[in-house]
Amino acid sequence: MSANLNPALRADFVRRGFTRRNFGRIASVLTAGAALPFYNEPALAQLSMVRNMPADAVKINANENPLGPCPEAVDAIYNVVKKGGRYMYEDTYDLAETLAGVEGVKFNYKPEESYIDVYPGSSAPLHQAVLAYCSKDRPFVKADPGYEAGERAAKFIGAKTVNVPLKQGTWDHDVKAMLAAAPDGGLYYICNPNNPTGTLTKRADIEWLVANKPKGAVVLVDEAYIHISPNAVPCTDLVAQDKDVLVLRTFSKLYGMAGLRAGAAIARPDILEKIKPYSAGAMPITGMVGATASLKAKDLVQKRRKIMGDNREDTFSFLTAKNVEFIPSESNCFMMNVKRPGTAFAKDMAAQKVYIGRAWPIWKDWVRVSIGSRDEMAKFKEAFVKVYSV
Ligand code: PLP
Repeated sequence: MSANLNPALRADFVRRGFTRRNFGRIASVLTAGAALPFYNEPALAQLSMVRNMPADAVKINANENPLGPCPEAVDAIYNVVKKGGRYMYEDTYDLAETLAGVEGVKFNYKPEESYIDVYPGSSAPLHQAVLAYCSKDRPFVKADPGYEAGERAAKFIGAKTVNVPLKQGTWDHDVKAMLAAAPDGGLYYICNPNNPTGTLTKRADIEWLVANKPKGAVVLVDEAYIHISPNAVPCTDLVAQDKDVLVLRTFSKLYGMAGLRAGAAIARPDILEKIKPYSAGAMPITGMVGATASLKAKDLVQKRRKIMGDNREDTFSFLTAKNVEFIPSESNCFMMNVKRPGTAFAKDMAAQKVYIGRAWPIWKDWVRVSIGSRDEMAKFKEAFVKVYSV
């Protein structure tokens, strides 16, 4: 165990009953200032991906946005690159302050008074929240099928993950079943809209979970895809009301900045302070200025929501005409039933140079597809007709 580990963290680990082995693994990662070694969407996509993708491949496997950063973000990034020899903390604060204004939460330079922290994407605060709130006695609780990254962080520290199937038919989080399955949870993870189904969980259900979860636990609402959905209700106002809620945001999806890295954790100052010590702190300045410019770009969310929504609905019309079962999604991905192992189906699509997403063990005949551009979805349709048979 490293002598350099923050004493408050060390005491917290001991209190939470970590074994020396798990404690030591976390300590060695932290003291090296290294990134936490968990999977995020591209790494998970990679697991099911063939290497050496051809240059003309259609890449609809990792919920990326083919629109990329908006022109305002591109300009801001271009202008900041030559100043990249500086850490430029002020631009990091600028993003925090701008996003706090959009979301109606308090920003302050003093961490003990601030309800927002920016991160290079939302993977880091997601993993860090698991490390901070879960332990061998306080499991990570999530829906199935759901986004798996938090589960991997839980495994790393020897914490259990309790997987609870989505509600049949509506495909939203079954919050009552989640609490019943894990009354002692440390972190209850609600992905809204959910990855991979793109379905929404009702605001009343999230509020019920917040009101009924055990003491000391936090409800993490992952809003990575919230801007894409026309009907999702954000939970940042629950944060402003000082609830035990942590909202995560990213600029990787609607804002098209997955490779540029920007995101945020929005929560009460004590929750933010609890997750913060698990990472090194400095932010990619290109991501920070690009995100701030994106927030200021006029009507960006509405325009992109429409473009992405139109491509999604067009794909759904195609699948309906082909009699293919799919889950109506409000996001940039959806699940479809290919009536044979989804992994093999994805491999056959890749042979047509169309790289779709993965299957989840709980629904092995279903596979996830990300919404690409109109051209990409036209190629998806062509390949689908060749590969799908009932
Ligand atoms: N949360 C969800 C639900 C995701 O699907 C992803 C990535 O696809 C992330 C978080 C992490 O994204 P990033 O680290 O790029 O913000």
